[in-house]
Amino acid sequence: MSAQNCCGLPEHTHDKNNNHNQPKGGKGARVTIPIGGMHCPACALNIEKSLNCVSGVIEANVNFIGEEVTVSYDPHRTDIEHIKRAIVRPGYLIKETAWERAKVFWSERIFLIQMAVCALLVIAANLIAHFGPAPHHLVWKLTLADIISLAVIVIGGYTILKGAIQALLVWDVTVFSLVSIASIAAVVVGAYKEAAMVILIMLIGETLERVALRKSRNAITKLLNLAPISAIVKRDGIESEISADAVRPDDVVIIKPGARIPVDGIIIKGEGAINESSLTGESLPADKKEGATVYSGTINEGNAFEMKATKTGDDTSFALIKRLILEAETQKAPIQRIADRYARYFVPLILLIAVGVYAATRNPYTAITILIVACPCALVLATPTAVVTGLTNASRHGILIKGGQYLETLGGLNSLLIDKTGTLTSGKLSVTDIVTFDTTENELLTLAATAERHSEHPIARAIIRKSEELKLPIPESDNFEIFKGSGVRITYQKTTILVGNNRLFSEQQIDIGQDISDAVAGLENQGKTTLLVAQNNKICGVIGLSDTLRANAVDTIRKLKQMGLNKIALITGDNQRVASAVAKEIGIEEYYAQMLPEDKVKKLKELKESGFRVGMVGDGVNDAPALAASDVGMAMGAFGSDVAIEAADVSLMSDDLAKIPEAILLSRRALGIIRQNFTFAIVYNIVMMFLVTQLVHEQHNMVWGAVAHQFSSLLVITNSLRLLR
Ligand code: ADP
Ligand code: MG
Repeated sequence: MSAQNCCGLPEHTHDKNNNHNQPKGGKGARVTIPIGGMHCPACALNIEKSLNCVSGVIEANVNFIGEEVTVSYDPHRTDIEHIKRAIVRPGYLIKETAWERAKVFWSERIFLIQMAVCALLVIAANLIAHFGPAPHHLVWKLTLADIISLAVIVIGGYTILKGAIQALLVWDVTVFSLVSIASIAAVVVGAYKEAAMVILIMLIGETLERVALRKSRNAITKLLNLAPISAIVKRDGIESEISADAVRPDDVVIIKPGARIPVDGIIIKGEGAINESSLTGESLPADKKEGATVYSGTINEGNAFEMKATKTGDDTSFALIKRLILEAETQKAPIQRIADRYARYFVPLILLIAVGVYAATRNPYTAITILIVACPCALVLATPTAVVTGLTNASRHGILIKGGQYLETLGGLNSLLIDKTGTLTSGKLSVTDIVTFDTTENELLTLAATAERHSEHPIARAIIRKSEELKLPIPESDNFEIFKGSGVRITYQKTTILVGNNRLFSEQQIDIGQDISDAVAGLENQGKTTLLVAQNNKICGVIGLSDTLRANAVDTIRKLKQMGLNKIALITGDNQRVASAVAKEIGIEEYYAQMLPEDKVKKLKELKESGFRVGMVGDGVNDAPALAASDVGMAMGAFGSDVAIEAADVSLMSDDLAKIPEAILLSRRALGIIRQNFTFAIVYNIVMMFLVTQLVHEQHNMVWGAVAHQFSSLLVITNSLRLLR
């Protein structure tokens, strides 16, 4: 897990009007600027490179999908004007004002017009050359066809040359540089028609690439555009439709049948059937009654109901998820960093090879074709296209992966630790046994409920539920003290109430006596979780609770084993006997019981040190530190639990255990595709360079070089798009 992720989560808002804010605790400032004119992930790279050349810029993260860049900078050493200049310099546009947005709109259209004009001119030049009157020289030694071809070179080559010069300004040689040198060289040796053709093919290829890449971008924007727009609120008895952003906490919102829920909140009147597929990937609508929580971005497929807003604006779960998806795109996979580094050496290397070939063969056409064929476009596209489509596909299935690096580590896991309560089990415990000692059952429950009143733990909720069922009072208490992963203590009317497990009681040196000890052992042997209750350090009794395994726990474990994960273990804060019973039931051989949150972290570190690449699956209750300490932390049923979503690297939005193998398989597939792309791009380039030296000796062969080159880029993109399926 990278430091970036631990501390760099949603600090900044995406508020376009107020986007110049200070990062927490840092001395730098941070700004988010919308950009236009990026057509491939490599463009994002160019902008980052340019920004990193500005002294005072601490970090620049371009978000290709969200089309914006977030820059952390030292305000004493640089300012926003300098930052903006660095974005514009390599040829991109800033999209802040309406005028700038119009410019972006037209720059994209102009590209197409340019291509169409070039295509027509190339056709005309060829027709004239083949069917026209015998060529005679109009000016100097140029025929009409030559002049038209030169026009194409100027019109079409302009963008390419501009790109090359702009790259040169940030001390970079790119694909544009290679094509520019090739075209200029072709003109110098008098191959006008061929140069025009090469430029046209490059333009067409570029357009096809843009179309294909837009496909992967659209998939994400479609997801994000599900953001609710308007809301019907009832204020002072009057219903009015307002924008979703304007809803405030505690507003009463009316949700009509078929409407998208605008904010997070609680149903206060009526009931709905909520389709949460936009967030969880689960398409079966869930029935929700009064008191149930509903989330923004989900759809009501049932009757109308009223809800009270709890989280609005940027605090809604939808906003959080959207932010995470967008940020994920800026987190590069390590494999991509390696690729970027290679790409840098690649371009100068190809230049050298071309010069070498020219020196050896004295044939300019061969050398020029090498320049065209060997452009590392496919190599640059290999990883980012696969990462973007992989992440997109995952989010469509309710699997939120926080960045390319986790996609990579997830695919390479060989070991998995799984938390019990709330992860393998439903976490909806029920009270099954009450054993008392000098009190009544109801008194014991009341004591426990009083203590657990403010705890969010699944055990606490089970106790509260039971007390409410029996209509027992649950009085307010003072001095709530929590022992993470072992219990709680409070004071109530000058008495101290302690509830928790064996471990806590022995730590607190409370004698539990033989009777209770036997009762605890008896319950635990039945696979039950036990909760001891003491008042003023005197034991009052024990409560037994049972949990149910999630539906497909057994299948999931079997599947994970089949996938070749060679160490799968259960890790729980619960007692030994329960742990062993659950492990046996679901077919796991290894388990670690009675683990406090810090023990879980220690265990993970041990495993990592002994060479395992370990993933941790948890629910965020008492295991958030473990999620963070693992190579990849996965949160189950994370939807609605911001803590879990923020602590985990991968959030499984639904309660479905099958998402764990699904996430791993998807990542493996993405990794596989990246490797294929890489191997293909490199082998193809080498083979093509060799073929060029063997086959290309004449002027008109050069065009095939351009075709072959575009073919490889398109093949890589198409291969990556397979991940969307
Ligand atoms: P798991 O690792 O299985 O998810 P936890 O770490 O959440 O379990 O909890 C471990 C154990 O700590 C529980 O089985 C319970 O005995 C005890 N415990 C934790 N929180 C509480 C609480 N609020 N009240 C009583 N017992 C608790
Ligand atoms: Mg748990």
